Amino acid sequence: MIYLKKVDPQIKALIQKEKKRQSETLMMIPSENMVSKAVEEAVGSCLGNKYAEGYPGKRYYQGQEYIDKIETLVVERVKKAFKVPYANVQPLSGSPANLAVYTALLKPNDKIMGLELAHGGHLTHGDKVSVSGQFFKSVSYKLGKDGFLDYQALEKLVLKEKPKLIIAGITAYPKILDWKKFSLIAKKVKAYLLADIAHLAGLVLGGVYPSPVSFVDVITTTTHKTLRGPRGAIIMVTRKGLKKDPDLDKKIQKAVFPGLQGGPHINSIAGIGVALKEAEKNSFKKYSKQIVLNAKALAKELKKNGFNLISGGTDSHLILIDLSSFKITGNLAAEALEAGGIVLNRNSIPYDSRPPFYPSGIRLGTPGITSREMKEPQMKKIALWMKIIIEEISEIKKKMKISFESEKKKETREKIIKQSKAIKSIIVEVKKLCQKYPIKDFY
Ligand SMILES: *Cc1c(COP(=O)(O)O)cnc(C)c1O
Repeated sequence: MIYLKKVDPQIKALIQKEKKRQSETLMMIPSENMVSKAVEEAVGSCLGNKYAEGYPGKRYYQGQEYIDKIETLVVERVKKAFKVPYANVQPLSGSPANLAVYTALLKPNDKIMGLELAHGGHLTHGDKVSVSGQFFKSVSYKLGKDGFLDYQALEKLVLKEKPKLIIAGITAYPKILDWKKFSLIAKKVKAYLLADIAHLAGLVLGGVYPSPVSFVDVITTTTHKTLRGPRGAIIMVTRKGLKKDPDLDKKIQKAVFPGLQGGPHINSIAGIGVALKEAEKNSFKKYSKQIVLNAKALAKELKKNGFNLISGGTDSHLILIDLSSFKITGNLAAEALEAGGIVLNRNSIPYDSRPPFYPSGIRLGTPGITSREMKEPQMKKIALWMKIIIEEISEIKKKMKISFESEKKKETREKIIKQSKAIKSIIVEVKKLCQKYPIKDFY
């Protein structure tokens, strides 16, 4: 960072601290990952200087000779990788991509149906705090009490409510989605079917998670999660979608620009292209396979260590833990684990008895630590450290006779965490593990 050092030492110092934090802790938030140096170079390049409103061949400003070539190349890579006839790489991130699909397919107050947030869906699938639940009528489907998606209940709800759009996608559901069942149900009420594979795109390309392409009309995905690219998103239209609605591609194209966005981030688009090139390699297939092997190994060890897992385990990259039996909130657990170098997030669980800001669960995943080439034996260690920390924290809380109301306060949680002996030794172990598996360039 020779230039930053001269121009802005303050920002440089903060970036360096964040870099150190990432290198010395376990990145276990399932939506996070780390990019290659090649992706970093593309994103940090001069492409960010260019305004390119419009699409290749139909821009509003001059100077697009190479920009057009780049966007066209990346679109072609998406089409080839996912086997779809249409792709749009301009959405700035996953949430705006979903809004673009709704803008293309719906009128205000049309009915949409997505998986409930607390049951593993995403905010943008119709939650009340998101515009997706304000501009549209939103009815959500849920998991069964067993923690599995209940397709019979979904079908009943769809037949009753007749939504115009059904969203199949997850942000905290660890099992495989049955795209075919979704497609049969959507067909019964002639609804559009959107697969939001934001978390899953890398696993789909790696061949370790079923592709929705032959079952749905539209697909959205982020590019910065398992796909291991820069922050951004893609919208795809399938052959099935074009058969249902021959104008679907044009509608999406218009909704992204000029409907919702101005100039696309060509630097990010180039980075997405690089990530897709990397994903063609055999090493990426191996990587995605290892993500799932690691998640399964971690789930098995967590269960052995007394943790209760929603849906009983995982078939993907993520795990959702129900902490009810430890009588602590996800907040306290996530903060205690962070103090020990294990970074994950608190999360609501299906039928949570606690409010969303103080939920009963934590969510974790393996894309980040698998990028550091950790494997099954390391998962065993991590599961054991988690058990030691959570059991001790739960014990301290019990001894201190702390109520749920008091645990809501950050100072109370800090007091509990300060008393832990386990955290002080585990953070040293985590640092050692991180040194053994450094963040290095993978291509
Ligand atoms: C992460 C995610 C998004 C949103 O992506 P952002 O880039 O954070 O806006 C949308 N849908 C699902 C299912 C996600 O997991």
